[in-house]
Amino acid sequence: MNIENSRYIFAPHSLPTLPIRGSDKLFPVHRIYCVGRNYAEHAIEMGHDPNREAPFFFQKNPDTLVLSGGTFPYPDASKDVHHELEMVVALKSGGKDIRQDQALAHVFGYAVGLDMTRRDLQGEAKKLGRPWEVGKAFESAAPCSEIVPASVVGHPSQGAVWLEINGEVRQKGDLNQLIWKVPEMIAYLSGLFELRAGDLIFSGTPAGVGPVKRGDVLHGGVDGVGELRVTVG
Ligand code: MN
Repeated sequence: MNIENSRYIFAPHSLPTLPIRGSDKLFPVHRIYCVGRNYAEHAIEMGHDPNREAPFFFQKNPDTLVLSGGTFPYPDASKDVHHELEMVVALKSGGKDIRQDQALAHVFGYAVGLDMTRRDLQGEAKKLGRPWEVGKAFESAAPCSEIVPASVVGHPSQGAVWLEINGEVRQKGDLNQLIWKVPEMIAYLSGLFELRAGDLIFSGTPAGVGPVKRGDVLHGGVDGVGELRVTVG
């Protein structure tokens, strides 16, 4: 422990970061927000009405990020861990009540993430009207690729969103099927929370979610953005 942090009673935990394509710099992560049911086919497979209703959000802990190429350790306390492959929006600035037509100006770039879910615990929480943290915010629950700057890829609004497990296609959708588009989710979310530089938004998963098992290789991507590869340990 150095002089600078000697006022802490123990060494502070390190700041979660993501690499940036084409740069030596790191993206320091502030919060992780996730949008629920943002593709109609996925809403249907989870037993919900696919009609456009107000978006809803939950959070994952930033220290649950796992970098691409890493291992997702199969978590304790669950026998039904699901994959949800999603495009991730990375903010370089924020604010409250951001207007839709201003929203994309706050986006630094995009990434590919997995919203790993203890589906059995989430299901129990839903049934009992309890919070979702035990299903969504556990250790290593947020594998994420490097961030690709919008200055390189623009702001993709179409392109395949897909996941293969051990080479077999499991999830397939397209960004053009997002119920709430990126500017809309930023505008809506900023009415509920003050967004800040470093925030990540997992934008929702297409249909085809399902269980993973130890040894599985999860390889997913968002065409035009990037790819993510994680092994279940
Ligand atoms: Mn999700």
